Amino acid sequence: MKAYEQGLTLLYIDVGQYGAWYLGISFFATLFLQDTYFYFLHRAFHHPKVFRWAHSGHHRSVISTPWTSFAFDLPEALTQALFFVAIVFILPLHLVTVLAILLTMTVWAVWNHLGFTITSSFFLSQWLGKWLIGPGHHGLHHRRHSQHFGLYFTFWDRLLGTQNLDRE
Ligand SMILES: [Zn+2]
Ligand SMILES: [Zn+2]
Repeated sequence: MKAYEQGLTLLYIDVGQYGAWYLGISFFATLFLQDTYFYFLHRAFHHPKVFRWAHSGHHRSVISTPWTSFAFDLPEALTQALFFVAIVFILPLHLVTVLAILLTMTVWAVWNHLGFTITSSFFLSQWLGKWLIGPGHHGLHHRRHSQHFGLYFTFWDRLLGTQNLDRE
């Protein structure tokens, strides 16, 4: 936390500094940036030259379980952590926002790896199910490797053609 103590990071603790509305804006902005970072990194990790040492550990389970969400090879774990090291120097974030993002990330990772879909009959509406990534979406990535690289949103998969159209 040395960089924080010296005021080098953009972390802050006084909500009034940017206003309450900014807590929400910065939360969603960070999720989108993380999703973008993850998407391209994830595609790179599927390159045949790096897959074996960088990402095969995560794909050991073809049918994922909540434990899979914590299974990463070291290079992947490090590059994912790097996002958080970088973001606090790029975007002003309240400490509570950082905690909320870490919590969202953990819950979402477990959710994505449940291995079955409850979205269609459950609380997520059709629209949300289309734009948010869930177990059905990510489970398919574990089986096919070439589709569904996103973390939270289907945005990049849709835009860059890695979305499985059969699911719609
Ligand atoms: Zn996975
Ligand atoms: Zn993968």
